Amino acid sequence: MQETSTLFNQNVSARVRASGEPPAPPISHVVVVGGGTAGWMTALLLANSKFGERLRVTVLESPSVGIIGVGEGSTPWLRGFFDGLGIEEREWMPACNATYKSGIRFEAWSTRPGYERYFHPFASMLDNMTMPQFVHNVHARLNGADVDAHPDRFFIANKVARDGLAPKPQRSFPFDIWYGYHFDAGLLGGFLHAKALQRGVTHVARHMDAVTLDEHGDIRSLALEGGQTLAADFFVDCTGFASLLIGKALQTPWVSFSDNLFNDAAVAMPTPIDGPIPSQTVSTALRHGWAWKIPLTSRHGNGYVYSSAFCCADQAETELRTRLGLLDSDVPARHLKMRVGRVTRHWNRNCVAVGLSQGFIEPLEATALLFVQRTAASFVEALEQGDLGEAARAAFNDRVNAQFEGTRDYIVTHYKTNTRTDTEYWRANASNTALSDPLRTLLGAWLAARPLVPGIAKGTFGKGYPTMSWYCLLAGVGLFPDAASLRPPTAQEARHDLAAIDNLIERSALNFPDHRAYLADIAPKVVERSLQMYQW
Ligand SMILES: Cc1cc2nc3c(=O)[nH]c(=O)nc-3n(C[C@H](O)[C@H](O)[C@H](O)COP(=O)(O)OP(=O)(O)OC[C@H]3O[C@@H](n4cnc5c(N)ncnc54)[C@H](O)[C@@H]3O)c2cc1C
Repeated sequence: MQETSTLFNQNVSARVRASGEPPAPPISHVVVVGGGTAGWMTALLLANSKFGERLRVTVLESPSVGIIGVGEGSTPWLRGFFDGLGIEEREWMPACNATYKSGIRFEAWSTRPGYERYFHPFASMLDNMTMPQFVHNVHARLNGADVDAHPDRFFIANKVARDGLAPKPQRSFPFDIWYGYHFDAGLLGGFLHAKALQRGVTHVARHMDAVTLDEHGDIRSLALEGGQTLAADFFVDCTGFASLLIGKALQTPWVSFSDNLFNDAAVAMPTPIDGPIPSQTVSTALRHGWAWKIPLTSRHGNGYVYSSAFCCADQAETELRTRLGLLDSDVPARHLKMRVGRVTRHWNRNCVAVGLSQGFIEPLEATALLFVQRTAASFVEALEQGDLGEAARAAFNDRVNAQFEGTRDYIVTHYKTNTRTDTEYWRANASNTALSDPLRTLLGAWLAARPLVPGIAKGTFGKGYPTMSWYCLLAGVGLFPDAASLRPPTAQEARHDLAAIDNLIERSALNFPDHRAYLADIAPKVVERSLQMYQW
């Protein structure tokens, strides 16, 4: 097993190909259009299939259209991507100025006293010893008992993040721990590009002018600038928000999420990083959206995601600059528009869309690369099973759509449960009734103090996120009866000794190294450069 594998993803290990000639693929040539993170991740997963070099993979990338260049946080699943390709952390992390991520700290989303901030932790096996007490206390509080049910007290990841530790415990620590990463999106793209070329992927740097369909409506070929034609039997649309193949050429219908996710724009700018390197993303609610703060070894990435219906680009930039102390600075800001929603069919005819071309749920929980990974891996699986028929396509689309809807509901819950009243933006979010039926049922169950586990386990609601995440979010924002109405707990309700949990977490944290020092051990030179200001 590789160094970076864990008990959580031990089934993900580098692919070892059977000796001898690889099997023949059901298609011989795939063209991936787009050289952003989605394009190169997809190309690498295709190149890693059981067909080896018998499956030709070409990435077509326009020299005149840049990549989006943001997207600096991941979920823990990204570990499985690198593990599956046999790429070690000590190789890719320093190359991408990457840091570890134990979870996300949410600041100022709630005004309920005691719940102005909370941490959404990535899981640890130690949680098995503290999660039951957390859920018990949550239900006691929902039933009116005055017990501590704030998630921050119950999870080791919160302590690791708060103390600037790396989620990489000593080998003797008997509990495995999940973590994600932060990274420079531009450097990650470059790293994946180089890896893909090493693994036999062909790169064509040429702008695509048009898509030619055959008489059945499938994609036949691509017309390139300069008059060349690029033909293949399958195409992957990684053209970003432009969605040139699945959207424009194949006219796949689009489902907008704008009725319950209002944000459609962002502004980003870097700041230096010095002192400890936190192993967390911080997401702070501002007047018309929220700001991310992401630590890399070379800089902090900062951005403000907002709704253009409530705030113009200048206002957003000024609010972000003021917050970062950059009002008089000439650090350039990058302004971006976001298209939030999804296509109805991610696999349509001989084309699969991966990345921003297939859809986007705003970046609050940094889930976009997870969709890239899952969609591309599912397609490789279908290829390996040799099943490209209508039923396989329908199952694929249902699965990806369910992931989008489940994740959308989790993100919407952050907005729906906010208690800010400072702007119309927050009031509109809190009073928004455009909720999916599953989310409505989940919130109903919570408010009635019914356990969420059966509904999540059955898939009735809460798809896409684990039980712990739902409990941390709803308890973290303090969606409980008013403090003034609480009564003293019964002996049964107060049966858990929270001092014992504090002690367990304190002692466990001694096994985790300082984050900056750990990263320096991976790549001393990278950390020495950490005070340099990053230039876009
Ligand atoms: C504000 C913001 C914050 C985000 N934060 C996160 C995050 O924290 N975590 C996360 O996982 N994701 C995040 N994302 C999403 C993430 O940035 C993307 O999912 C990721 O970068 C993949 O983008 P992409 O490859 O689909 O598109 P792009 O990076 O836009 O790449 C598009 C590619 O298509 C090519 N192309 C376009 N037109 C043509 C043409 N005519 N011919 C040939 N090639 C063409 C371009 O050259 C380019 O290579 C964020 C997104 C936004 C907007």
